[in-house]
Amino acid sequence: MKKEQYLGVDVSPLNYEEIIDDIRQRIEAGKQSTIIAVNPEKVMAANNNSDLKNLINDSTYQIPDGVGIILASKLKKGNIRSRVTGVDMMERLIRFAAEEDRKVFLYGAKEEVVVKAKKNLEEKYQGLNIVGYENGYVQDQEALLKKINDSEAELLFVAMGSPKQELWIQENKPKLAVKVFQGVGGSFDVFAG
Ligand code: UDP
Repeated sequence: MKKEQYLGVDVSPLNYEEIIDDIRQRIEAGKQSTIIAVNPEKVMAANNNSDLKNLINDSTYQIPDGVGIILASKLKKGNIRSRVTGVDMMERLIRFAAEEDRKVFLYGAKEEVVVKAKKNLEEKYQGLNIVGYENGYVQDQEALLKKINDSEAELLFVAMGSPKQELWIQENKPKLAVKVFQGVGGSFDVFAG
């Protein structure tokens, strides 16, 4: 996968299906994957902040969430032709998890929001196995990490806004057996309706 660069920030050229296929192979190979949504605002912010730039570039997939990236790719004669949004990527992964029996954990948002999002997703996707959840304001991180590992979750969605969620993923990924991490911003609020 040849990534495109915008002000030194990597962007993945893969579409939803290609990412899912790649992730399936990486799970089977026992590799961890991280997904981060990229838009022009994040590219500009990363241009002045090398930590943020490294955080983005160290991710497995920098999805082009934002028309500005599509325009920039067109102007540069790149290959990115359609958006891959954070919320749609999460929903595709949820469908993948339901179809291929992969366990899911939801972390983030207010208690009532994460509970409602879980319920709505389970109603929409037959066979979906959400093995645990936690709101995004929990204090005991040690207990949270244990809860996630004990649940044997393979996909973890973190909804705490950016870059907080990505920093959390970067810090805790080595301590977790989870295979797929996605920072999803306000997506739980969307699924909660
Ligand atoms: N949030 C959280 N913990 C925090 C701060 C925020 O769980 O410490 C949640 C908040 O309840 C909301 C989401 O993170 O559900 C923030 O979404 P926002 O739309 O601000 O994120 P963006 O998509 O803009 O990155």
